[in-house]
Amino acid sequence: MPRKPRFALVLPLGGLEKVLEYRVPAVLREKLRRGCLVRIPLRNRQELGVVMELRKKGEMAPEKLKNIHDLVMEHPALTRDSAELMYWMHDYYGAGFERLLETFIPAVVRKGMGRKLEKRLVLAGKFSSEAWEVLRKRAPQQALAYQFLGDQVKPLKKSLVAKRLKVSLSVLDGLVKKGLIREVLEAIERVAYADEFGDAEQAENQEFQLTEEQKRCVDSIGLSLRDGKFKVHLLHGVTGSGKTEVYLRAIQPVIRSGKTVIFLVPEVALTPQTVGRLRARLNQFNFKTVVWHSHLSDGERLDAWTSLASGETRIVVGARSALFAPLRNLGLIIVDEEHEPAYKQEETPRYHARDVAVYRAKLNDAVCVLGSATPSLESLYNVFTKKYVCDRIFNRVDNRRMPTVHVVDMRQEYISQRSAVTLSRALVSMLRDRVEKREQAILFLNRRGYSRSMICPQCGWVAHCRHCSIPLTFHRKVDKLICHLCGKEDPAPFRCPACASAQIKWKGSGTQKVEEIVKQILPQATVVRIDADTMTKKNLFRKILSEFRRGRIDILVGTQMIAKGLDFPNVTLVGLIDADISLHMPDFRAHERTFQLLVQVAGRAGRGDLSGEVLVQSFTPYVGPIQFARREDFDGFLEEELALRKEHDYPPYRNLIHHQFRGLNPEKVEFFAEQWVRHVENADLGWVEIRGPVPAPIEKIKDYYRYQVWYFTKNVSKTMPVLLSLRQDFPMSEDVLDVFDVNPVNLA
Ligand code: ADP
Ligand code: ZN
Ligand code: ZN
Repeated sequence: MPRKPRFALVLPLGGLEKVLEYRVPAVLREKLRRGCLVRIPLRNRQELGVVMELRKKGEMAPEKLKNIHDLVMEHPALTRDSAELMYWMHDYYGAGFERLLETFIPAVVRKGMGRKLEKRLVLAGKFSSEAWEVLRKRAPQQALAYQFLGDQVKPLKKSLVAKRLKVSLSVLDGLVKKGLIREVLEAIERVAYADEFGDAEQAENQEFQLTEEQKRCVDSIGLSLRDGKFKVHLLHGVTGSGKTEVYLRAIQPVIRSGKTVIFLVPEVALTPQTVGRLRARLNQFNFKTVVWHSHLSDGERLDAWTSLASGETRIVVGARSALFAPLRNLGLIIVDEEHEPAYKQEETPRYHARDVAVYRAKLNDAVCVLGSATPSLESLYNVFTKKYVCDRIFNRVDNRRMPTVHVVDMRQEYISQRSAVTLSRALVSMLRDRVEKREQAILFLNRRGYSRSMICPQCGWVAHCRHCSIPLTFHRKVDKLICHLCGKEDPAPFRCPACASAQIKWKGSGTQKVEEIVKQILPQATVVRIDADTMTKKNLFRKILSEFRRGRIDILVGTQMIAKGLDFPNVTLVGLIDADISLHMPDFRAHERTFQLLVQVAGRAGRGDLSGEVLVQSFTPYVGPIQFARREDFDGFLEEELALRKEHDYPPYRNLIHHQFRGLNPEKVEFFAEQWVRHVENADLGWVEIRGPVPAPIEKIKDYYRYQVWYFTKNVSKTMPVLLSLRQDFPMSEDVLDVFDVNPVNLA
């Protein structure tokens, strides 16, 4: 970068998708850096923009260029690496700059607000003892104020001093005039360092003797950190193996060496325990931590952001958006529960935080640690191909036993109870047992998307597509089973093709129903349900968790959302009501998700001194994911699943790009989707396999009909730019909207 640049390429914030050239006025030449937020004249208005490049020589004749007006703040809004990251996301995800800038720079910063300053007072001069005596006699109030300020460790707000001492402001002004005290301007701290997390879940702050396995992981990560080169570690440790402790030990030397750390969790609100524990420990080392979450007020967010940009705070903890924090000198990025679909952003820019984390680490020669008890197949595959290092922990801390997993065959239950029931007899009797023993239980019901696959309650048969090996989706309106990958249709059967039962149907029950049934069966138990409502109320979720911890609740009912990172020592029973819901989603990841879900929910049981039991209900108890999870056979599952994926060349063997078309007129949408596919086929992209167009699994949402096209490719970086440029030449109808989604995680 030239030392005294005269020209700058600026990307305006207001949606103009290109950089413009400006002159750098002399007063800004020293201060201006790449990534700085500036005010620029644009179309007779003043706009904000980000400096993307600085130059000594301009491209255009200087007299044609306008001057940059001024600098919004000295700290760059985009660090050098995040500018590069933004370009990469632009190419890789096909995301526009406007939305990317919104992602990288929070609204409150983009508005060009500065930090709020206030006047504070500190001592300025010293006295001889005689002068002090004179002051005490002639102006006792001033002497009082002087003494008071002398006792303070930090500068105090002027009005506060006056109020405390019950003196008027003029008394203080008098002291200023005499040069005995001084006024300083300081930023008001609204930051959420003093936070809500530490106390709510009473984060324990013990320091442990590491187990042998933990130590090996810490050493392995430490080695890479000292190497100072880009490296990805997959920390694969069973539930309750103490991964958080490993992260904490990895963080310490990084901070001590002056570098910075990003710690990602799937959702801050859902992981108060992890966040609380982390902060308690880091505070103990005097490492100030910013917790970046959606509840921050504008002022808090601005302060948090500024303190990270200025280097005042060097650790940020948060959900996926924390990945774009303006940290410089990044040494370590941790992605906890890396398998979580919550890391995928489902609106533009549709990025996957785990993948972007790896790329940001690469740009910084930093280390990225991906941690999970149930890593994604993508990450495991990268271990397999030697791109990532794998550190494993096979045992729980203190060698606590892994819970025993029972699988209940709901087909049997159906036959002996003569109807489809929600709770099996085995589950009811185990719940009763726990309530009597005053131990606790959690019941999970996976509600993510709702199952619209066909299943036979008598034999467990599920309708599958012969070409794609995913369950067919039942479309009620046309009474057909349709594959949403290849479009093949079948009439919906009246009887099960396997056992001829007429009971064949799709099923699902809600958490509310489960709660009611449990209350009926066990009226003496305290049962609490956690659902979407509970999540939106800021403190309710944490309150329920802390009630549960105190033993005031016997049975907690909720979706698997609440399974994340919960650690309750008195929980000895976990029930998974309906394993089939996730198992038969029309998604090639259905088996992976089910396996992960089972292992994760099982991991909530038996975390204290009592050992735990897990009960899984399913109509298809024989399938791989359930059996492998029951035996804790991770490698067995991996082998079977990778073979399946390989057979169809699904991820992780190839990448998947989803392209959705939608519009009010279904014929038009289908027509343009078909035209588009022809357009791409003519371009002869030999390395891309195209499938579709087919109707989306939910064909119509809010009156908009949806079609989709899939591209299978080994190389996204090569494919996306070509698709985007083809798209620019394609005469799409104005009535049809289309959007790309690279490596989507939610196919159902
Ligand atoms: P994971 O994230 O792998 O499921 P956690 O990090 O939640 O596991 O740890 C499980 C429990 O074990 C926590 O209560 C934690 O405080 C405790 N713990 C972690 N490491 C140790 C250790 N070395 N010795 C004793 N207890 C530990
Ligand atoms: Zn059947
Ligand atoms: Zn198919």
